[in-house]
Amino acid sequence: MSEPVAPEQTPERLVDGFGRVHRDLRISVTDRCNFRCTYCMPEEGMAWLGRDEILTFEETARIARVFVERFGVDSIRLTGGEPTVRAHLPVLVEQLAGLRVGGDGPLVDIAMTTNGSTLRNVAHDLVAAGLRRINVSLDSLRADRFLELTRRDELAKVLDGIRAAAEAGLDPVKVNVVLVGGVNDDEVLDFARFGRDEGVTVRFIEFMPLDADDGWQSAQVVPQDEIVRRIAAEFPVEPVVRGSEPAERFRYLDRPVDEPGSIVGVIPSVTRPFCESCDRVRLTAEGQIRNCLFALDEFDLHTPLRNGASDDDLAAVMHEAVGAKWAGHSIGTVQFIRPRKSMSQIGG
Ligand code: SF4
Repeated sequence: MSEPVAPEQTPERLVDGFGRVHRDLRISVTDRCNFRCTYCMPEEGMAWLGRDEILTFEETARIARVFVERFGVDSIRLTGGEPTVRAHLPVLVEQLAGLRVGGDGPLVDIAMTTNGSTLRNVAHDLVAAGLRRINVSLDSLRADRFLELTRRDELAKVLDGIRAAAEAGLDPVKVNVVLVGGVNDDEVLDFARFGRDEGVTVRFIEFMPLDADDGWQSAQVVPQDEIVRRIAAEFPVEPVVRGSEPAERFRYLDRPVDEPGSIVGVIPSVTRPFCESCDRVRLTAEGQIRNCLFALDEFDLHTPLRNGASDDDLAAVMHEAVGAKWAGHSIGTVQFIRPRKSMSQIGG
């Protein structure tokens, strides 16, 4: 008679009141950035967090371990500010890359969102440490406009960074473009061509009210339908089935679907919210859990972590945070209240 097999350990799940299972953890590793994008922060920068306020790599890795091993989170995205301005970032990536979903399942998938300006220098080390996928934020292909939007003359570095990411083996390499009506929306076709020529997936992001100077206007939002209409006028496309990822994806009809650059995406956060399938939870650089990008409340892990909390204590805060999640943002309704923090303080 063969030995009884211990039933496979199925991790608890972080499920909110709407039945959404949270599997995607966004970790902001710093609130600092080497760019000064006009819709994100003022020229002089923000009131940065102090060194002792920011979680250490060990603290971040411990929190991530509880999310991954205890709750079956299977995807981690590193964000900022600009994550690559945090010194020794590959050390953290290495600590995270060894985590197994549910404790004994597959390795967690590590991705990052960056402005791309340092990728030529860091891409190889990050891949060696375990990074697999990357999103590069790029809002203009024109050097003068890039300078105007980011207050940095670094377009060439970012374009080279995108190539360095592909050379280092990051796959896919995606390019995120925040479209602001009357600012850069005349570049939709330029970006579509760029993605096709460079073999990267370009994703247009509808402008969201998370800018630091509260200047967001709904009139500046370029809706998904308009973006797709402009692309299809030159490059006919068809929709591709969508998973839980935020982007709606479209395939160029003149390209084989598995060819790099054959897909273009739109993240229609404002005109077609995708909150009903949201599986994301966020950790800020100072150790607060945000159960939504637009959350008004945060759940503190920093204090318990620095006061000897057990993994059970941390898990209880994670449960509470996800349990309190609302159905979704209410942008465009009278209920909508802007969060106190801006995108650079939350992380994408
Ligand atoms: S707005 Fe909030 S609930 Fe909606 S998809 Fe984004 S993070 Fe999820």
